[in-house]
Amino acid sequence: MDALAQSALDDAIESRNFIASQFPYEPFTTHCSDKRITKNFTTSIYIEHGRTTAQDVFSSKGLLTPDQFQEVYWDAIHHLFTKVYPSTFRVWYTKHVFECNGAMRYLHRNEPQTYPSPACPCCGHPNEDASHVILCPDRGRTNLYNDSVNDLVRWMRKEKTHSIIVLLVKRYLAARGTQSMTQIWLSCGGRRDVNQTGFQLATAHDLLGWKNFVDGRIHKKFVEIQEEYIVSRPSNRQRSRKSSAKWASGLVDMIIRITHRQWLYRNELLHYKQHFGAESPREYQQIMARITHLHNHTDPDDLLPADQHLLDTDLNTVASWTATRRQIWTAEFEASLAARRSRPLKRKRRHDRLGLVPLNHNGRRKKRRTKEKKSSRDKPDDTSRTKDTASSLIGTTAEGSQRHKRRKKKRKKNRRKE
Ligand SMILES: [Zn+2]
Repeated sequence: MDALAQSALDDAIESRNFIASQFPYEPFTTHCSDKRITKNFTTSIYIEHGRTTAQDVFSSKGLLTPDQFQEVYWDAIHHLFTKVYPSTFRVWYTKHVFECNGAMRYLHRNEPQTYPSPACPCCGHPNEDASHVILCPDRGRTNLYNDSVNDLVRWMRKEKTHSIIVLLVKRYLAARGTQSMTQIWLSCGGRRDVNQTGFQLATAHDLLGWKNFVDGRIHKKFVEIQEEYIVSRPSNRQRSRKSSAKWASGLVDMIIRITHRQWLYRNELLHYKQHFGAESPREYQQIMARITHLHNHTDPDDLLPADQHLLDTDLNTVASWTATRRQIWTAEFEASLAARRSRPLKRKRRHDRLGLVPLNHNGRRKKRRTKEKKSSRDKPDDTSRTKDTASSLIGTTAEGSQRHKRRKKKRKKNRRKE
């Protein structure tokens, strides 16, 4: 009975011959953005609110216009995000889509000292951004890209995909963003005929373009063509709609994984260590940048005298050392700099601990005292302070203030005399 009902439902959907869903004696119906809610209210409202928010975000970032947003088959990404991908993968995907991942352009922009160049670590392209990840012409990465595309084509054939979709997607990915899908369709012998499935698909796809496709935002037309194709196969009629949704999720997943494999390969190359304890290429660059900076911008007097020989070491020699020796050199250098700088600080801390007002804190007191010396007729017997700081001043805060008062009185007296 269920099979018969499903079959009747499929026929009705295919022929668009069914009754209106508005029944005459329904007390009320609820709509959300022109769609009647027939499931859970909360879920429907949540999904609709998410859709409008996402549209605003994609529009504000310049990734999709509102019209383009309506053309994307979002159900696949929704399914992958809610049912398939773990949170770490979702984070990677989101960062990649919104161009805030660890590509060199963004690292260089945020920390130019640590990442002196925005160039691609694999091919040397001067600007490695999120779009470059799938386009990197490095030999190893190109081989990996071709393997990934072959895997996708194999998967499409296994999942009984419409032959035109297989043909267009295969050639479009092989062109790697250099041709539009309409150009691919025409180069395959197709015509600019709106009745041809291939032309319909190509023109629909070109509304979204390369970047959206490789990020997994495929056009609804792919799913529509595949659904019609599945329905037209007698063996698949009972599971048509479910099958096309599942197929679309699989296709989007395979497309996203092409970029993800490129990203993994790139990171493996960048963070590869020859053996335990060795530096990765990035770590080597970072420590050499630090050493060069220290070497070029340090005055010998900024170091403790015992450590000034560190500056005699040639940078090429440092570059040839082992990772551990380089780290030791840097640590020694930085420790010496810090020790040299901390000398005045030490004195200040000692003053603070003893609650003393530091001598020569500002020029005013010194000036006043020199003036006083010049103007005073008497010898400055009890007004002078010893040069040494802490030991002579222990416990003299109160006394010091008394002396200060006495000095004030003396000064007043002197003025009156004058
Ligand atoms: Zn590259």
